[in-house]
Amino acid sequence: MAAPDLTTLRPAVSGRLVLPHDDDFEDARRVWNGMIDRRPLGVVRAVSIDDIPAVLELARREGLALAIRGGGHNVAGNGTVDGGLVLDLGALNGVEVDPRRGVVRVGPGATLVDVDRATEEHALIVPLGVVSATGVAGLTLGGGFGWLTRSFGLAVDNLLQVDLVTADGRRLTASETDNSELFWGLRGGGGNFGVATAFTFQAQRLGPQVFAGNLVYRRDKWADALRAYADWTAHLPDELTSIVTIIVPPPAWELGDETVLLIGFTWTGADSNEAMTHVDRLTALAPPDERAIQPNRWVEWQSQADDLFPRGARAYWKNVAFDQLSETAISAVLDFAERLTPGVATDIHHMEGAFGRVPEDATAFPGRSARYWLNIYGFWQDPAEDEARVALVRGLHAAMGPVARPVQYVNFAGHEGRGPSAREAAVAAYGPQKFERLVELKRRYDPTNLFRLNHNIPPD
Ligand code: FAD
Repeated sequence: MAAPDLTTLRPAVSGRLVLPHDDDFEDARRVWNGMIDRRPLGVVRAVSIDDIPAVLELARREGLALAIRGGGHNVAGNGTVDGGLVLDLGALNGVEVDPRRGVVRVGPGATLVDVDRATEEHALIVPLGVVSATGVAGLTLGGGFGWLTRSFGLAVDNLLQVDLVTADGRRLTASETDNSELFWGLRGGGGNFGVATAFTFQAQRLGPQVFAGNLVYRRDKWADALRAYADWTAHLPDELTSIVTIIVPPPAWELGDETVLLIGFTWTGADSNEAMTHVDRLTALAPPDERAIQPNRWVEWQSQADDLFPRGARAYWKNVAFDQLSETAISAVLDFAERLTPGVATDIHHMEGAFGRVPEDATAFPGRSARYWLNIYGFWQDPAEDEARVALVRGLHAAMGPVARPVQYVNFAGHEGRGPSAREAAVAAYGPQKFERLVELKRRYDPTNLFRLNHNIPPD
């Protein structure tokens, strides 16, 4: 079959159509995950939301697989496609702040740092993720964990409205009062229901400095630190969100080249002395080898790990929601830590707090009562290491099996669950009840599955 003539798009879009013979095609076809090597027929770099309907129309008419790209950080590589069309929204990265109401409207191509820079001068923060180049769009549509999750919930819990273009080119808004069932699905259901053209958040009055820090534990203290962490996290106020990271530190961190266990935390309360009483309780149980605790400019705290994740890093990720940092879980994590190599790491996010108080059925995001969420992630550079690194990630995931809850965070999942296994992957992520509710929505808003390059909810 002859390839469709994409140049017919040119009069209909004001953005640039990048085709395979163009100099910037190589850059345009690529996404953050360097393991994803796909060649689309063309990439539309939209500069206006008015460019979107024509792209959807062409993809529908020609039966082309359509990839929607925000920040391009999706680990599964859903922001690009072989033999189809990419709608790249990266240039639509505007952020408008209403300082009086604390309301922030974010374009679909904005990254976390775009938002943090715009809100900083107003002492406002939108709870998003932890690496500044991540796209707000994909992160939010999947849920959005970060340094403020226990204080203010997920990114989706701070969302007031999503503006959307649906598969048939209609423009809709979804909020608690407008298309509320769609709003339910957009908060966790990914890009299944349309192209989001704006996200409106209720920001938190916080910053520009936030009290935060890291405790560093060397090998002989890992087991004590994890046991102490289990105890400590049973009695913490919402103001304290913490993440355990086990990693071979990059040279810039000046922590040596041996694997370390870090306990990082962010405090959102008014009194940093109160934060220190909680930190002291932890350090009394498990004294760290080093510590760095101080007020940090939020935009800097939010980008401290950026250097680990350059565009083109190779990535395979898996995640596990669980309730007890039991001896089984601790020994799985320690065994992984012993075998860790540069370019792979794991985080344990302490959940509960504001995250856990959102009723399970209030949003599509699954697993609100999980106490911890483990993310095993890769960011290596050498293709020759793919097999060993993927095996390492899978190994910890399998070892956590006995304590795992039957849910998945789609944003921390790799390139699995396509084609016939998409349904099983979606049921495994959302659970059967939420899956059925998402399918109903999918049938209503995208019955032909135009938006299928995502963690897909198949309509049939
Ligand atoms: P993209 O690849 O552009 O898109 C992701 C998915 O969303 C694709 O399926 C795409 O089709 C869809 N999509 C994108 N834009 C739109 C739109 N406008 N309308 C409809 N669908 C759309 N997650 C967290 O929760 N917290 C973190 O701290 C965190 N840190 C991360 C750090 C790194 C280095 C990386 C690689 C990922 C991180 N993630 C984190 C995971 C992240 O949330 C997902 O990878 C997310 O998909 C990235 O969104 P994006 O817009 O950059 O990606």
